[in-house]
Amino acid sequence: RAKQQGRNHYQFFSSQRKSMSQSDIILRSQFQHAIDTESLQLYYQPIIDLTTGKLASVEALMRWTREDGSSVSPAEFIPLAEATGQIIPAGAWSLKQACTDIHILQQHGVPRVAVNLSALQFHRANFFEQIERILVDTNTPTNMLELELTESILMENTSNAIQVLERLRNLGIGVAIDDFGTGFSGLSYLKTLPVSKLKVDRAFIKELSESSSDQVITQGIINMAHQVGLEVVAEGVETGEQVQLLKQYGCGFAQGFYYVRPMALADLIMYLKTTDLV
Ligand code: C2E
Ligand code: MG
Ligand code: MG
Ligand code: MG
Repeated sequence: RAKQQGRNHYQFFSSQRKSMSQSDIILRSQFQHAIDTESLQLYYQPIIDLTTGKLASVEALMRWTREDGSSVSPAEFIPLAEATGQIIPAGAWSLKQACTDIHILQQHGVPRVAVNLSALQFHRANFFEQIERILVDTNTPTNMLELELTESILMENTSNAIQVLERLRNLGIGVAIDDFGTGFSGLSYLKTLPVSKLKVDRAFIKELSESSSDQVITQGIINMAHQVGLEVVAEGVETGEQVQLLKQYGCGFAQGFYYVRPMALADLIMYLKTTDLV
């Protein structure tokens, strides 16, 4: 299986490489420079427990500011880094940085830190060993760490993926399914996986107040997720109206600009000191 996967990835890189535009090539080399000089940054965005109004966790989000001071959106550089394979070192950096920050976050009352993972990272043969090594090197309490994976990661290479998920669970690491609803897996499939949380994609939340079909879908996802024992986080919550609806639906957690935008570690700590979130 490893051989087959390796070949697929090779094909992926080489076909991507052929189709890379001039500006992508420049971006790739600038991003490589950022990786080499460790000048990437992590921002953190609070996730709120809707029952208590308190902080449930924070999500780590990669930020890249170039030497000229201009920043590039993750929506642009993450897909590029996935196509070039640069997500491997960049993702390893973000995991390690988050685990380094976990100690100070914990001191300030943050219960858990979620880190995003790309398929390329998760499907590497030594992924689990890499996680273990980072946890040991940074002396991270495993129950402080949560990983966010997309549905598509779990659709491919299923038996191996399930094995890795089980090993993570045995370590006490939480796993959340990110951007739920945009892929093709259903809840009946997810219920067979050792995951504990589902994040409803912003696509369903964006027009929640206006769209009765989004209301029906969101309510349905929340109810079914709860029935199979998954916690639910609504992503991209921007209005009080959305919060009211989500509470009405029994949604457990919410994250979005309505509460606060992602921010640098020092800003988050200041924010936590001046609010009663923790
Ligand atoms: P995601 O994991 O789904 O992260 C949530 C995204 O929604 C973040 O975008 C966040 O800034 C944005 N967001 C949060 N609340 C709101 C809101 O109320 N309204 C709107 N419009 N947006 C909101 P961001 O930081 O640009 O990241 C985009 C994506 O890049 C992430 O989506 C994730 O898939 C990926 N990414 C970010 N950091 C990492 C990383 O360290 N490793 C990997 N593999 N992927 C990452
Ligand atoms: Mg995420
Ligand atoms: Mg998401
Ligand atoms: Mg998303």
